Amino acid sequence: MCIFGAGNVAMDAARTAVRLGSEKVSIIYRRTREEMPARIEEVHHAKEEGIEFRMLTSPLAFNGDGNGKVTSVTCQKMKLGEADSSGRPRPVPIPDSQITIPCDLAVIAVGSGANLILTEVTPSMNLNKWGYIIADENTGRTTMKRFWAGGDIVTGQATVILAMGAARKADQRIFTIT
Ligand SMILES: Cc1cc2nc3c(=O)[nH]c(=O)nc-3n(C[C@H](O)[C@H](O)[C@H](O)COP(=O)(O)OP(=O)(O)OC[C@H]3O[C@@H](n4cnc5c(N)ncnc54)[C@H](O)[C@@H]3O)c2cc1C
Repeated sequence: MCIFGAGNVAMDAARTAVRLGSEKVSIIYRRTREEMPARIEEVHHAKEEGIEFRMLTSPLAFNGDGNGKVTSVTCQKMKLGEADSSGRPRPVPIPDSQITIPCDLAVIAVGSGANLILTEVTPSMNLNKWGYIIADENTGRTTMKRFWAGGDIVTGQATVILAMGAARKADQRIFTIT
């Protein structure tokens, strides 16, 4: 099983897969351990649980058995170049360095986005440049009358505590504002 990405969600998916009985779990990431966004303790526990880390490796193509099942992933080896806009070194492909890694299940954990069903059918609800709903920080009110929003759909991927906090703040205002 291969997990693509190296954030907390990737570690969570990898460690859960081990507990559910996956024999071999590999984390595939295009930069190095230094740039991994996951918390240090998550990485530490993932290593303790026997998860393989394949750094400086980027997927190019999934290969299947012709019946809808993935069998391997073709990857390219990378090296670190100049810093990009995030301040982290940009991964640069190494020519002629393709490898094929056996893979019977792929989890892509490289970020999240808003569910477009909701945001696309509500044009009067303003979104920010990442497609998340713009809501008042203190009340959760959106630009659409009688609509409140909170949690990941406002902040982008965050935490349960922040989502619950947003709900509590909004709850105190929803029944008093019309
Ligand atoms: C793998 C993983 C591990 C995580 N681990 C942690 C952790 O350890 N600690 C932590 O604090 N946070 C963790 N998070 C983040 C945490 O899950 C989120 O920050 C939190 O769930 C956000 O809550 P929310 O209510 O905003 O959104 P969600 O929990 O995503 O709930 C949104 C709900 O809306 C539903 N929905 C979406 N679109 C529509 C629609 N159009 N109509 C109706 N319903 C819709 C969805 O099905 C979903 O049920 C993790 C996230 C992931 C993915």
